[in-house]
Amino acid sequence: MREEDQRQLLVSLGASLFARGFSVGSAGNISVRLPDGYLMTPTNSSLGRLEAARISKLDLEWRHVGGDKPTKEVFLHRAFLDARPDAGAVVHLHSTHATAISCLEEAVIPPLTPYFVMRVGRRLPLIPYYRPGDAAMEPAIHAAAREAKAVLLANHGPVICGPTLTDAVNAAEELEEAARLALMLRSLNPRLLTPAQVDDLLNTFG
Ligand SMILES: [Zn+2]
Repeated sequence: MREEDQRQLLVSLGASLFARGFSVGSAGNISVRLPDGYLMTPTNSSLGRLEAARISKLDLEWRHVGGDKPTKEVFLHRAFLDARPDAGAVVHLHSTHATAISCLEEAVIPPLTPYFVMRVGRRLPLIPYYRPGDAAMEPAIHAAAREAKAVLLANHGPVICGPTLTDAVNAAEELEEAARLALMLRSLNPRLLTPAQVDDLLNTFG
């Protein structure tokens, strides 16, 4: 996809996430891998009101080369995009239910539905709490991203990748919905997918 088309897609998917409450205010940021660098949502921008021409552009060495200044959480994206050659885009949200789970001592989303397993995978590592913008969390995220498509930042929110921008946004939505189900069912002893069912899904679709 051409860079201009990626920019337009980022604007429309950002607006869609915002309109449906997956992000509020200036929370959340999104990046896209390009042949010659990366697109990144600008610092203090709202996903609901992005402008294609002002989206930050970074070169392959992560230097800011165009558009507004990038998000101060750029290192979340760099950790995923460096660790995972299969990642074409990264979405970070403060979506309510996934963030709620990130505040629990046992911050786990169990395998309740097939689509969660297919889009997020077997593991959702919890990264210990760091102050937002603290680049010290990058090595921990990088290490976790080598083995998982998504992580939860403790008391902060989810970060998730996908092969394309649309895939990453779909996966972020699936993660949020799975978190909502996990909280709804927390005291109800739900039937989980068995390890064999999880294996079957990952072998078939993973
Ligand atoms: Zn954040």
